[in-house]
Amino acid sequence: MRNRGVVIAIDGPSGAGKSTLTALLAERLGYLHIDTGALYRTLALLVKRTGVAPDDHSAVEAVCRKAVIGFRRDAGHCRVMAGDEDVTGAIRTPEISMLTSQISAQAAVREVLLSLQRQMGRDGGVILEGRDIGTVVFPDAEVKFFLSASADERGLRRFLELQEKGSTATLEETIAEVVRRDRQDADRELAPLRKGADAVEIDSTGETIASVLERMERLVREYLSTSAASERRGSA
Ligand code: C5P
Repeated sequence: MRNRGVVIAIDGPSGAGKSTLTALLAERLGYLHIDTGALYRTLALLVKRTGVAPDDHSAVEAVCRKAVIGFRRDAGHCRVMAGDEDVTGAIRTPEISMLTSQISAQAAVREVLLSLQRQMGRDGGVILEGRDIGTVVFPDAEVKFFLSASADERGLRRFLELQEKGSTATLEETIAEVVRRDRQDADRELAPLRKGADAVEIDSTGETIASVLERMERLVREYLSTSAASERRGSA
């Protein structure tokens, strides 16, 4: 086992419940929650502000290599930082979602974030959520989940989230956007969104958060007790 616990990877398409479930599971286990999508979103925000064309790969790369991004824990809340600026709210718009998906297909963008994510998770005791955590970032993660749900349900969840923030997008538009972004993420050449053969797939369509959380926690605790038992046997 790593220094402070194992690495748990949670992948899946947008709106599958990754963020909510990762936060709850991390709390129950006393693990650190790392939302890797927030890192990609922050790079997209910086690209947008710099005004470079998203398809100008070398200009995007220059922005990404200069960026200083990370998380700050503040009174129990996790804030996303670009240098000294708190960008937690600014990265959550539909425009940034699409731009993020566009630039995250680029090799240099993924390379910059690959080392950052590995550094953040290397000691264990973490749950990373994203698209390629179990397949690329931590292929040796001890526990891997792939969360899914129907496109209609994922679109509805995203729609309700956006409505809370005062968005005027319709449900149909939101479902279409979710589907388009997932297709873009799944069709890219580098680190595409896909379920790894060793990930436990959980389809949360029609399920409550509590019941999915229960299942995930049970699987993690089973893993932890089995590996602790085999470590004891190994050292006996
Ligand atoms: O998870 P979230 O919706 O915030 O992710 C935003 C975008 O970031 C995704 O649509 C995807 O293009 C990209 N991403 C990625 N790899 C990750 C996490 C997110 O490519 N590990």
